[in-house]
Amino acid sequence: MQKNFIYLDYNATTPAKPAVARAVAAVMERPLNASSVHGAGREAKRLIDGVRRTLSAALGAENYNVVFTASGTEANNLALKGIKADGVLVSSIEHASVLNAMADAVKIPVDENGVVELAGLQRLLSNYKQPLVSVMLANNETGVIQPIKDITALVHAAGGIMHTDAVQAFGKINVDISTLNVDLITVSAHKIGGPLGAAALLVKPGVMVQPQIVGGGQELGMRAGTENVPAIVGFGTAIENIQKSAHTKVLRDRMETVIKSLGPETIIFGEHAERLPNTSCFTMPGVKNETQLIHFDLAGIAVSAGSACSSGKVTVSHVLKAMGADNDIATTSIRVSLGAETTERDMDQFVTAWRALFDRTANQRRAA
Ligand code: PLP
Repeated sequence: MQKNFIYLDYNATTPAKPAVARAVAAVMERPLNASSVHGAGREAKRLIDGVRRTLSAALGAENYNVVFTASGTEANNLALKGIKADGVLVSSIEHASVLNAMADAVKIPVDENGVVELAGLQRLLSNYKQPLVSVMLANNETGVIQPIKDITALVHAAGGIMHTDAVQAFGKINVDISTLNVDLITVSAHKIGGPLGAAALLVKPGVMVQPQIVGGGQELGMRAGTENVPAIVGFGTAIENIQKSAHTKVLRDRMETVIKSLGPETIIFGEHAERLPNTSCFTMPGVKNETQLIHFDLAGIAVSAGSACSSGKVTVSHVLKAMGADNDIATTSIRVSLGAETTERDMDQFVTAWRALFDRTANQRRAA
């Protein structure tokens, strides 16, 4: 990365590890189409199947079918649109790739900590015979972790099918399907130090998924299209190189303590819930997040305002609204997400920059 550039936006994407870049480059130089029947084709298939095993072992899902897709977005679309159900329920804080895949899905409410309300879910479930439920394992904006094991138990008791979007959780916390017991799970390579262009939907044996992209019969007939062998191989290398970054929690917690001591009215979203160790979403009272983003960008620090919009525009976060924040509060929050390469010095510089803006806007707050 550039010198003097501080990257605190790991939930948006991560830099690929050098071993990943090397593995991708080596494979790209070879003609590898896994559908070809000749030796090179068999080699492509062998490489892809190796990554299937690596991925399912990493998730404790040895007997699940691994369907490779081009993105987490595509895997979420496949899960939401490819399952036969008499109703679809999704939490109100899902990523846009779930919310927009099934715009008329019934929304499951969350409490003020951003955690799905189990009683509310149970009430909704009673309206269906075979519902599909999608609740993310960890939220991309706040890092709040959902009680997926309990949710899955309720869904199965109601005769439903359970999908979880683990795009943000995978690589940051332990994700074990044998405990969560979900039927479908989404993961994505570029959030764990892998390349863009590879992700996967893992499907429990016996669960039928209708393909949304048709053509050749690749990926067990669930997703047509020549497999992206370099990206999939890079995904496998990234999984083998996942580092549990315990230091991110220490650095994140320290930053939150300092910021709260500087600005006691600061709100940290999901502070009282279980959260990913690397994520923090908090307000600078009275200062719009657009102003904050520009300030940090000028200081060479990359952070984000909730979810990064494809248009680059900052909109009011549906996640914070679902947690009960009004527009004035929600539009003063930013997300800081740390990663394996984040240092104490990075965080000190972030806090110094935060403090400079906080002090500069003190008059604004007093006038309000
Ligand atoms: N789900 C969550 C929770 C995410 O944070 C993201 C990306 O930010 C996605 C899905 C989409 O993944 P991809 O970028 O691979 O399409």
